[in-house]
Amino acid sequence: MTKNKSSLVVGKTVLTMNEERQIINDAAIKVTNGRIAEIGKREEILKKNSDLVIHGGDNFLLIPGLINAHQHLTGDRLIRSCIPDSITDNEAIFDWAIPIHEAHTSEDDEISATLVLAESARNGITFTVEAGTVAHPGSVLKGFENIGVGGTLGSWGWDVGDGPYSGKTVDDVLIRQLDVLELTKEHPSVKGWVTLVGHDLMSDDLLKKASELAIENSTNLTFHLSPNLSDVESYLERTGVRPVLHLKDLGVLGEHLLIAHAVHLDDQELETLINTKTAIASCPWAYLRLGQGVTKLGRHPEFFSRGGSLSLGCDAGNAGDNVDILSSAKLFAGLIQESEIEGMSSASISALELATIEGAKAIGLSNEIGSIEIGKRADIVFIDLEDQAWKPQSPDPVKQLIWSAGTSGIHSVMALGEMIVVEGTCLKIDEEEKFSDLQERQQRLLGEAGLEPRPHWPTV
Ligand SMILES: [Zn+2]
Repeated sequence: MTKNKSSLVVGKTVLTMNEERQIINDAAIKVTNGRIAEIGKREEILKKNSDLVIHGGDNFLLIPGLINAHQHLTGDRLIRSCIPDSITDNEAIFDWAIPIHEAHTSEDDEISATLVLAESARNGITFTVEAGTVAHPGSVLKGFENIGVGGTLGSWGWDVGDGPYSGKTVDDVLIRQLDVLELTKEHPSVKGWVTLVGHDLMSDDLLKKASELAIENSTNLTFHLSPNLSDVESYLERTGVRPVLHLKDLGVLGEHLLIAHAVHLDDQELETLINTKTAIASCPWAYLRLGQGVTKLGRHPEFFSRGGSLSLGCDAGNAGDNVDILSSAKLFAGLIQESEIEGMSSASISALELATIEGAKAIGLSNEIGSIEIGKRADIVFIDLEDQAWKPQSPDPVKQLIWSAGTSGIHSVMALGEMIVVEGTCLKIDEEEKFSDLQERQQRLLGEAGLEPRPHWPTV
């Protein structure tokens, strides 16, 4: 029988994000075998467990590990902030991002995923939903393991057009998906999802079978839809109805589906997504970076206020660029303020809920992650209240975290009971060695894709 591995975490304040949203002062958390075993007042818990290693201290605010519900782990990251912001979003994706993806080797995939997840971990993100545009899932799984965070993993899934790794038949695509489910079957922290590219790049037959595959395997399905108006136009032309209504006709909506974006929704589509409990991953920085109309036509605050299942994401290295869910949460809080929806709860509260427990619910994993509660994964972010951003300290840590401090002060991060970041350093890898040739990799990828980014101003 294996011996239980336990440690203690202590903090000045814990934002539990449990059902009652309890805030515990002078708190301690006992962690056993990667899970939260006890939580309560420090004095009591220390008395019973005086022999255990202690992490944290009096100067820490502890929050649950953050959730990023839509993130491309490969492709854009190695050419981050290279794609011009003066072209259309479709040009950015199809003329730049896709050719770069196509040029990725298996090693590029591992380095890219490791790089994204290192930044994620440093920014307090302990669970990432990979967006599905992965050529070498085994390499990306290695990236998760290099850093020690959890997440979901997919693979390229499309059967319309001839993009990289597109399937000639529906079965071609489904076999790639099944391979990922098999690869992650026994994994302790990474779950295989069924992932399609989405938009209008999937046949009805593929969509129906992918949805069935996800349900049969007790997992989720995710794909992109309606970040701009072009999906609406193409669905209307092909099917006679708007995208969400077509998905409803196909019978693929439901709790197992996470749609990335769904920015452009009419009343009937909004209502349909709420009624079917279909979730949305909202990536507000991407919509602004790509100019997709979120401030004019986006309805995510309304969707959330009416009980819609919503989560937040950071998208890609040229669509929001940073992997920082607290930055997305702050921007979303601003969109809530602008939306002037009656009865909407505090913007900062909603924003933190979306980055934690509500995000976990939207991806179907609220029994595992999203709050600091007994039985859940010990995914905990340690925020140093001695950091200048936290001085002086507001009586309301939620407002200060969302509107002001953001990631400033994130000192350490625990995932599944293991310290994976301490003082901003990822402990499981030698980053200097792992990331020693990023510039060369970028040059090679751009060269192979025939792309030449340059500064706008004359350089002498
Ligand atoms: Zn995406």
